[in-house]
Amino acid sequence: MPDTAPVLILGAGPVGLGAALELARFGVRSIVLEKHAGTSFHPKTRNFNTRTMEIARGWGRAAYGRLRGIDTPEGWKSPIRFLASAVGEEFGSIESKGFEGPGPDVSPALPVMSSQELIEEIMLDAARATGLVDVRFRTEATELVTGGGDSDRQAQLRVTHLETGETEVLTGPALVAADGAGSLIRRQLDLPLDGVQDLSHIVNCYFRADIEPRLGDRRGVLLFVSNTEARGVLQPLDAAGRWLCQINVAETDWSPEMFTQDRAEAWIRAAAGVPDLTVEVLSLGFWKLNATVARRLMQGRVVLCGDAAHQFPPTGGLGVNTGLQGMHNVMWKLAMAVKGQADWSLVETYDAERRPVAQEITAQSLENSRNVGRIQAAAMSGGESGLDAADVVTASRRYGNHLGAEFGAAYVSSAVIADGSRPPAVADSYSDYAPSATPGCRAPHVRLGRGGAELSTLDLFGAGYTLLAAKDGQAWCEQAREAGDALGLTLDVYRIGGAGLEDGGAFAPAYGLTDEGAVLVRPDGHVAWRSRSPPAAGAPALTGLLRELHGGTGRAPAPRQGAV
Ligand SMILES: Cc1cc2nc3c(=O)[nH]c(=O)nc-3n(C[C@H](O)[C@H](O)[C@H](O)COP(=O)(O)OP(=O)(O)OC[C@H]3O[C@@H](n4cnc5c(N)ncnc54)[C@H](O)[C@@H]3O)c2cc1C
Repeated sequence: MPDTAPVLILGAGPVGLGAALELARFGVRSIVLEKHAGTSFHPKTRNFNTRTMEIARGWGRAAYGRLRGIDTPEGWKSPIRFLASAVGEEFGSIESKGFEGPGPDVSPALPVMSSQELIEEIMLDAARATGLVDVRFRTEATELVTGGGDSDRQAQLRVTHLETGETEVLTGPALVAADGAGSLIRRQLDLPLDGVQDLSHIVNCYFRADIEPRLGDRRGVLLFVSNTEARGVLQPLDAAGRWLCQINVAETDWSPEMFTQDRAEAWIRAAAGVPDLTVEVLSLGFWKLNATVARRLMQGRVVLCGDAAHQFPPTGGLGVNTGLQGMHNVMWKLAMAVKGQADWSLVETYDAERRPVAQEITAQSLENSRNVGRIQAAAMSGGESGLDAADVVTASRRYGNHLGAEFGAAYVSSAVIADGSRPPAVADSYSDYAPSATPGCRAPHVRLGRGGAELSTLDLFGAGYTLLAAKDGQAWCEQAREAGDALGLTLDVYRIGGAGLEDGGAFAPAYGLTDEGAVLVRPDGHVAWRSRSPPAAGAPALTGLLRELHGGTGRAPAPRQGAV
């Protein structure tokens, strides 16, 4: 495998660590720079949804298994409840199926509801275990020296080593700016944020208290409370006494000096509805709610990912998930460009493919947040607001029901070759998902068999393109092998229903193919190209199509051939 200079990644949050893990899958080294001494102590967010966990499967069995191991016990992923206090009157609830996952017909992966500090620890260990990731804590970036210009061919970052005060300039073939909501890099690139900023000021409190035994059968994923002393949300982290809450405060109260631990404790007792509750505050975080997307997700050799690229209200549970899914969209492109296997124009398709997704999710998360405000106002007014809390709850069913947003992205860009078809229509594109192999869509999960064991089509996707041919699609398999050799690309080739891969007949219909058709799946599991039928005389061969997808770049280093 060709060695390349390490890519610079700014930020060791979940998205920066995820970027390092993804680059490592393609054999690309990275340096992760983080100003703090370690990963986060504060739990912040909790949810890795099913699509994110499909991505995590690519980081190896150990990491996936550890992430699953910190999942919250049964019964704590749904519903979302609206209450006067945890033990007080209940105004309504929403079933939040999105947090429970769509089940084995849609995905071989399972979601995780836990807490970000545990997730980050697992990701850090997994990144280090690759041997390709150099994580440097207590290193603060102070300036983007080069990399933001259209003609730049590398990125340079000035950093300060916080232990010694020494500075140096680091150089890499690209910079992944995963430096969070206040992104220094986004500001230095002068990239505006579109949307609404400073929607509200939140104190996010991590604490221990025995609330669970007092809830009876009122388990839930989010307990929104509203009474005269407390308005906000209680979030169980492990169903065993660790909790997080979000407290809406006035801007003037939004500081550790003003919102002290004593005030947090009093708020938690009022929110729980238990005046003598013993509360141990573990940490306080100060967080502003924004609903914004950067005007461009990349510039020059700099790629913005995660909160640096977009920030959502948490009402949707999609912030970190959208960040990781966007990161996953661009890292394979970046890896191929850095290795000389693709033109930089492939990397630039990130903006066309992911900005619309981020915009849609931002808008819905904002709407969810407004609905929560309406429900709480209606509940507090005791009917005098003219709004009925139960009616607003019904109108808010998109909150926690986001399968369309999670799985249904259908990319349109030069990294996809359209076949004239459209993904099937669904009643609600945010909540509903209909699997489809229309080019641009996530390749559907279909159960297959190999030597008596069950596997998913998704298990066949590795660190390269994958050709999936239907049972009589030998002609496409031949073409794919030639294309892989000609372009020096990893290209795994499988004939579903052929020797060694049993199919009960579900594959071809699920992928919209005749028995002689095939699809080409990108390394991010999205369909790049589809031919329903065998190669037609005079039609472009796969080598030409792949060259087109890669921005015209031709042969690159050492060919690798996949399995049949
Ligand atoms: C207090 C708090 C509470 C939150 N609560 C929730 C919640 O309840 N629900 C929810 O959905 N989301 C919540 N979030 C948001 C969620 O945590 C983010 O969506 C998620 O962390 C985004 O991941 P990221 O990797 O993009 O960025 P981050 O996790 O923010 O990571 C960015 C990293 O970059 C580092 N960094 C920044 N600048 C520099 C620099 N110049 N040099 C070196 N390192 C740098 C930072 O120290 C940080 O570690 C919360 C965020 C905060 C801050």
